[in-house]
Parts: sequence; C-alpha cells; structure tokens
Amino acid sequence: MFDVAPFNMASDMDPVSKQTTVGNLPRRSLGFFPTPLVELRRLAARLGGPRILMKRDDLTGLALGGNKTRKLELLVGEALAQGCDTLVTGGAAQSNHCRQTAAAAAASGLACHLVLGGEAPDVADGNLLLDLLCGARIHWTGPLRKGEKIPEIAAGLAAEGKKPYVVPYGGSGPIGAAAFVDAVGELGRQLDEGGPTVSHVVFPSSSGGTQAGLVVGKAAYRRWFDVVGIGIDKEGVGEVTLRERVLRLANETARLVGFEHAFSAKDIILREEYLGAGYGIVGDAEREAIRLVAETEGVLLDPVYTGKAMAGLIGMIRERELTGSDTVVFWHTGGAPALFPHARELV
Ligand SMILES: *Cc1c(COP(=O)(O)O)cnc(C)c1O
Repeated sequence: MFDVAPFNMASDMDPVSKQTTVGNLPRRSLGFFPTPLVELRRLAARLGGPRILMKRDDLTGLALGGNKTRKLELLVGEALAQGCDTLVTGGAAQSNHCRQTAAAAAASGLACHLVLGGEAPDVADGNLLLDLLCGARIHWTGPLRKGEKIPEIAAGLAAEGKKPYVVPYGGSGPIGAAAFVDAVGELGRQLDEGGPTVSHVVFPSSSGGTQAGLVVGKAAYRRWFDVVGIGIDKEGVGEVTLRERVLRLANETARLVGFEHAFSAKDIILREEYLGAGYGIVGDAEREAIRLVAETEGVLLDPVYTGKAMAGLIGMIRERELTGSDTVVFWHTGGAPALFPHARELV
C-alpha cells in the first residue's frame, strides 16, 4: 500500500470538498478507494421493486474490509500527527471495527489494544481470529460490551510510558464521520459517470458515524436522495438514543469540516422496525436476506449489520414503500468475517 495512494479519495480535486476542510485533515492511506459501485440486477429482478446498486465498502481491502477503513484513515492520520504509538479501542468480541483497527495499527507500525466484551472463547474465530493474527492485545471485560473500560486501559498504558490514541467506539466521532462526508463525494462522482439518479441510500446504522457522515455529505454535495439508516441494535450508546446521537454527531461533523449547516431531527431517517430479536441475533428475516443476496449475486452480507439492513430493504420493497420508480444504493459496510462464528444459525 502507498502512504499517499495515487487514486485515494479525490478530495484534493473536488470543488465541494474544498469548500469543506475534510481534505485538510491528516490522513493515512489504509484501503483502496473508490470502492466499486455495482448494479444487482438479479436481486432486483427477484424482488420486483426498485433498481438496486451496491456500494462495495466490504472491499476496502484492509484485512477483509469494511466501513471502518474509511474512518480509520482519518483517525490513524490524527494519531500519527499527535505522535501516538498505540491504538486503543473496544467493542463486541466479533467487532469488525476492532478487527480493522488492529489491521490499521499493524499497517501503520502502531501497537493495538482491544477492549472486548465477554470472556476469551476456547477457539478464536471470525473477527477475533483476525485481531490476534494482526498482533492486537485483547482485554476481556465480561458484561461491559461497549468499551466502558477503554479510558482505564488507556490510562494504564500512558502510565507505562506509551502514547495511546483512543479510537472512539465504532470510530464514530466527528473525525471518523468526516470520512463519510468524503464518501458521498466519491459516490457522487461514480453516479455522475452515467449512473442513474438515486432516490435512497440504505445501510445499517449502529454507532452512528456512517449515518452522520452521509447526512452531512448529502447536504454538502447537494444530493437529493434519502439517507435511510436501518437500526440494528436496540440499545443506544451511552445515555442517548441512536437518533439523538446521529443528529448531534452530524452537527459536530459539519462544524469539523467547516460546512455551515444546522441539521435537525427531520434530517435523520432511522428505521428501527427491522431490529428483529436484537443485536447479533439471526432470525428468519436476516437469514433470508443473507441467503437471497448470496444465491442471486454471489455477494456475502454479514449476520449482524448488512443482513439486517438488507432484511429492512426487502421489507420496504414488500410494503411497496420502494417501487419500480426508485433507485436504491445499498451501502455494503462489510462484516462477512462474522459469518463463520454464526454458521449454525445460517444454514
Ligand atoms: C460498524 C459497522 C456498521 C455500522 O456503522 P456505524 O458507523 O457504527 O453506524 C455497519 N456495518 C458493519 C459491517 C459494521 O462493522
């Protein structure tokens, strides 16, 4: 990989992003961009509704890819600019965010400490296996599953003379979200090369950074599509609901990138009726969605995020909320490494 990739995000040559300051934030190249934008004709024919395109952020290339790669380019950029030598973050045992953080650290010559909920399993599988292969140190925290112990562990590392950089939960602070402002510019350039007019962008929303960035990007790049997050987790992060968090983060992100705009509740479209049995639980709807996309397109969704979001898209098509006059971009945020530990629920 290149320190400055030849075809990385085109913020330098993009007039709108020049109006914002995303292009001025320190960035460490970690993935391959632009990610492909492909049409899913066979899936669309099977569902009989809108035209469906897929933005393949599962192919960012960083240790099996995913949406956190975009955020980490800016987060690691800041960590390096601050002279830090260690990344610290946390999440669930099968966190895609933690796996991409471990790989980003390895690719950047940094140490990585991961604060994971639960207990060490007998066999490390899926994302956890990849964390270990990338050399991450794991701290198991039992019932605390949302990185509650990150500050304590970072303080311990600092006391040992390390310079830790705390990557926020899910990479979802304004810096991480700013990467998705850029991502709208990237998508826009792909659509403007003869692509269709898009009515909806649909994706899984969890810690809120992806959605906040897409909301700001849509406004900054004057796109007209609806930014539709599908909630995948019943619990919010900390005290606030996901909806409140996305709104707050959108305003913080707009400020960070110098885009003058005040977002309000109406800008946040978050669909929470497709939660099924909750975070990481594969029910009939998720299983159907994962198998349908694999069988019609040979594309692998994941059991926790994109499987639920696709179940939501299928639900909206069956409810005739999305019809033949719509064109949807389904943002594939990655996560396939978690298919393997969920094998029993999938087939
Ligand atoms: C983290 C993640 C999401 C959610 O993105 P947020 O920015 O946290 O809302 C969606 N899909 C996958 C595969 C993820 O790993």
